[in-house]
Amino acid sequence: MAFWKNVPFVFALIGLWSCASVERENERQTYHKSGVATKDFSQSSGEFAQVVSRVEPVAESLCRSSGHPLNCDFEIVVDARDPENMNAFQTLRKNGRPLIVFTQALIDATQNDDELAFVLGHEMAHHLHGHIHRQYQSSRAGAILLGGIIAITGASADIVQSAQRVGAGIGARTYSKEFELEADRLGALIAIHSGYNPVKGAAFFARLPDPGDQFLGSHPPNAARVEMVRRVSLGY
Ligand SMILES: [Zn+2]
Repeated sequence: MAFWKNVPFVFALIGLWSCASVERENERQTYHKSGVATKDFSQSSGEFAQVVSRVEPVAESLCRSSGHPLNCDFEIVVDARDPENMNAFQTLRKNGRPLIVFTQALIDATQNDDELAFVLGHEMAHHLHGHIHRQYQSSRAGAILLGGIIAITGASADIVQSAQRVGAGIGARTYSKEFELEADRLGALIAIHSGYNPVKGAAFFARLPDPGDQFLGSHPPNAARVEMVRRVSLGY
C-alpha cells in the first residue's frame, strides 16, 4: 500500500485546465506536499469576493438538494505566493470540506466578473459531481490492472511498482475529459443562476493554451468546452 502514498497528487486535485505539462504537474505536487496549509492562503477580497458572495450560495443550495452525502460547506481561498502560477483547483480538506483555491495570478488574468464566476462555478461543479472520488477509483483500478498484468510476467517489485504508477496515471486520465465537460456544463448553470453570463465567462479559454485533442490528455480541446457552455446557455 506504500505505493499509494507516493501518487495522491494524481487524483487529489481537479483543476481548470491542462495538467499535461510536467511543470504544471510539479506545481500540483507542490500543492500536495504543502498540504494545502491555511497559512498559505488569504480570503477573497474586492471584485472576487463579490463574485464569491453571489456564486457560492447558488452552488451550496444545489449541493444540499443533490441528495448525495456531500459536504456543502465550501471554503474558497486565494493563493498569492507565486505571481507566475495561474491556476484554480478544487480539493478536499482532511475532514471532507471542499476547498477551492484560486491563485492571484489567475484572478489578475481574468477580464471581467463573468470569467471569474464561470471558473468558480466550474470548480464547484467538480465537487458537486464527486469527481475527486470518481477519479480516485479510476486511478486505483488502472494501477491494480496494469500492476497485475506485469506481476503475472514475474517482473521485479520495482517494475511492478512503476507499472502501477503508469496504470494510475492512465486510470486518472480515463474520464478526465468527460469530467471537465461535466464541470463546464454544471459550472455554466451555476454562473447563469448567479446572474452571470457563462458564454462571456468561457471566453477565458481563448487566452489559455489549447491542449488539443490528445489521446489520454487530461482536458478536452478549448473549442469543445466553449461549445458545451454555448449549448447550455441556449436553454436560457
Ligand atoms: Zn476542471
